[in-house]
Amino acid sequence: MKLKLADKTNALYDAVLSLLYPQACAVCGASVEARADGVACATCWQKTRIFSEDDLICWKCGILAPGSVPEEKRREVRCRRCDEEAYSAARAVGAYEGALRASVLALKREPHVSTRLVRSRRDGREGTARERRECF
Ligand SMILES: [Zn+2]
Ligand SMILES: [Zn+2]
Repeated sequence: MKLKLADKTNALYDAVLSLLYPQACAVCGASVEARADGVACATCWQKTRIFSEDDLICWKCGILAPGSVPEEKRREVRCRRCDEEAYSAARAVGAYEGALRASVLALKREPHVSTRLVRSRRDGREGTARERRECF
């Protein structure tokens, strides 16, 4: 694989930064090697479940739904526990666990969203423009 100059520069910058200012992973305590990972290490990000297009979710609240339905019925899946909620729709990037949970908790202290989290949001479930605005 051919790395672009910007990727090489970022990798070098990350290496120097982790030597000068080592940061412990908010989940497991290991060293965070890349700025893009934010407060969690790459291993914890890999263990965190990020939702994909294949996951079946409640169309209103976005919670994972068990089982499977035909493609044309996916938009009708509802958990019914959210029927009384005032919002029209909500979506999550993934399960509230591991690196994702640590990132959400870190947002309470510092208003910074890691590059990996932004990419997860973009690479995950696609929706309408309105749904994308309401994510997080
Ligand atoms: Zn970790
Ligand atoms: Zn629901």
